[in-house]
Amino acid sequence: MSTLYDVLIIGGGPAGMSTAYLCHKHGLSYLVLESGKAIFQGIANSYPQGKLVYASKPKDAPEPFMVEELRPPDKPVTVESYLQYVQHFVQHENLNVQTDVAFEDIRDERDGLTVVTSRGSFKGRKVVLSFGSNIPRELSVYGDAKMVAKNVEDATKYVGVKTLVIGGGNTAADVVIAILKTKREVNDSQPVYWAHKSEKFDVNKETAQRLGEEILLGGNIRLLPGAMPRIGEVDEEGVDRLVIRINEFKQVDGIDLYHAMSFPMQNVIACIGSQGPVPIFDKLGVQTIACTAGVCKIAKEGERLVLLSSEFESTRKGVYVIGGAISPSYMKISEGAICEEKHPNLIYTAINDAYHVVEAIRGKLGR
Ligand SMILES: Cc1cc2nc3c(=O)[nH]c(=O)nc-3n(C[C@H](O)[C@H](O)[C@H](O)COP(=O)(O)OP(=O)(O)OC[C@H]3O[C@@H](n4cnc5c(N)ncnc54)[C@H](O)[C@@H]3O)c2cc1C
Repeated sequence: MSTLYDVLIIGGGPAGMSTAYLCHKHGLSYLVLESGKAIFQGIANSYPQGKLVYASKPKDAPEPFMVEELRPPDKPVTVESYLQYVQHFVQHENLNVQTDVAFEDIRDERDGLTVVTSRGSFKGRKVVLSFGSNIPRELSVYGDAKMVAKNVEDATKYVGVKTLVIGGGNTAADVVIAILKTKREVNDSQPVYWAHKSEKFDVNKETAQRLGEEILLGGNIRLLPGAMPRIGEVDEEGVDRLVIRINEFKQVDGIDLYHAMSFPMQNVIACIGSQGPVPIFDKLGVQTIACTAGVCKIAKEGERLVLLSSEFESTRKGVYVIGGAISPSYMKISEGAICEEKHPNLIYTAINDAYHVVEAIRGKLGR
């Protein structure tokens, strides 16, 4: 029979790792399930290189950082050194983490909850959802083959192959730059194709400058504006391929002509942005409330906010939601009333949510 953990933690960012550390400290059994290659993958993916990490705290927040061990230093350090520090800390404390495991669903069982993941099922009495706010969008293409990378961990993987990067923003541009640079350094003449569904790419000045520099230094790039990923198919040799339409000619007889390219999916990286967690809440049957005119100050009219108790428990019993996943606001049930609660997306908030949730769970489990 599989282990029944007191707490299963989904996502190993500041919220999830603080939850893990506090469980560890208080003798609760727990397991962190992180979809990335390492803990703090969300931060590693979203912060630009060399960015300083600030120990920001909202002015009106009464509490100090409740987990000192994971707080960024007062004198800001680069994201690389903060990540290195956190990795050491987690190793030193021997916190229980499984990486490369993507959360998919939760099922109710008689003695707790079963969490379904890409790598099998896990059982827990309580589940803490701390998967942050940046859920990568999936490519919506027809067909069975859909799995493409969403970021680049090791650009050398793309040396010697024609690579396709999809997406028109800064993240896609950063990926293009990283691969161009790696290819250039080893004299690889295979190009990087950069595709975007619209005709215009949309990057900031600083990113555009770095890209321009890379091209001038000899980076081999082919732009594919107005290109649409269409089909994910498995070819005769069993290779998953992505077919991307690069242009289209409407004919008067109603038969359209188009050009398309087909890339092995393992050479494709899709940086097509992220979405909020509402589709996941819907899938889990966790209740959300739509903001109507005049009800919400932070969220816009029509936006849906997750409904939580003052202890961050969702309408699904035993399932808690914390950190960036409920920022910038959620609906709080308190003393019989429901109102929008401000929840800034900060490391401070993520850490302190973890503290309150672990206290609530300890109370419920009598530890
Ligand atoms: C560019 C940038 C700069 C920032 N700078 C600062 C700063 O200086 N100071 C500050 O206080 N805040 C800063 N923030 C905000 C801060 O990073 C977030 O508030 C914080 O990371 C939220 O922590 P979290 O644990 O809730 O989510 P995340 O850090 O997003 O962690 C969530 C984790 O869950 C994992 N995950 C996602 N989906 C799944 C799944 N299906 N299954 C398993 N795991 C999953 C992700 O890989 C990730 O590791 C910044 C944010 C950005 C984008």
